[in-house]
Amino acid sequence: MPETEIAIPTPVHPVTPPRKVPKPKNSAERKARLDRILAELDRLFPSATCALHHQDAWQLLVATILSAQCTDERVNKVTPGLFNKYPKIEDFAHASQDELAQDIRSTGFFNNKARSVIGAAKKILGDYQGQVPRTMEELLSVPGAARKTANVVLGTAYGVSSGVVVDTHVQRITQRLDLTKNDEPTKIEDDLIKLIPQERWILFSHQVIHFGRQICIARKPRCASCPLDPVCYAKDKTLA
Ligand code: SF4
Repeated sequence: MPETEIAIPTPVHPVTPPRKVPKPKNSAERKARLDRILAELDRLFPSATCALHHQDAWQLLVATILSAQCTDERVNKVTPGLFNKYPKIEDFAHASQDELAQDIRSTGFFNNKARSVIGAAKKILGDYQGQVPRTMEELLSVPGAARKTANVVLGTAYGVSSGVVVDTHVQRITQRLDLTKNDEPTKIEDDLIKLIPQERWILFSHQVIHFGRQICIARKPRCASCPLDPVCYAKDKTLA
């Protein structure tokens, strides 16, 4: 699936210095601020979804394993040839680890990833009749599927709201927007699960990831083009 792209306007407003943005003082103000953030994300990315190309849950699981420490763009260059060479889950289960590692070399950490993909294929064939499981508990038993990966697969492939995907973009942006004060992904996810309505968990993750790639980028966020500027008191806003 193509990544959601929006036309980023050239800088459209002066950036409000963080100290001039009023912080919410009570739960009603916090809720109003969160509603505004969610509404702007909806306006920017109404149909955001996973950028990893896949045909089914198994392919998405493989792509997600390969995406660790790698861009989705790079993974999307590797997976068409990979799924052509190994069309079925059984082909991965019986693959040579060394050969598979070379096939996915450009995604980095290829030995570990090859071990995880082969282990995942064997586990799913052995314990789940060849079907990627549909619950968090079962998916966490699959090699290479930690909580973030499991949330991606369950949310995107099956539409199961198991949690909020916390990747580097979600981590950075939810901290900047003061939706969490934690650093650990599991604690950030706990905070977001309490704040965000469950029916929004899947979409919210993808919206924030797109927002992080296009506007609230890591080193120099594009605050002068950001509709959340009036409610953002992040200390690392780009003022100039
Ligand atoms: S781009 Fe990021 S840091 Fe800048 S105003 Fe928007 S949310 Fe805040």
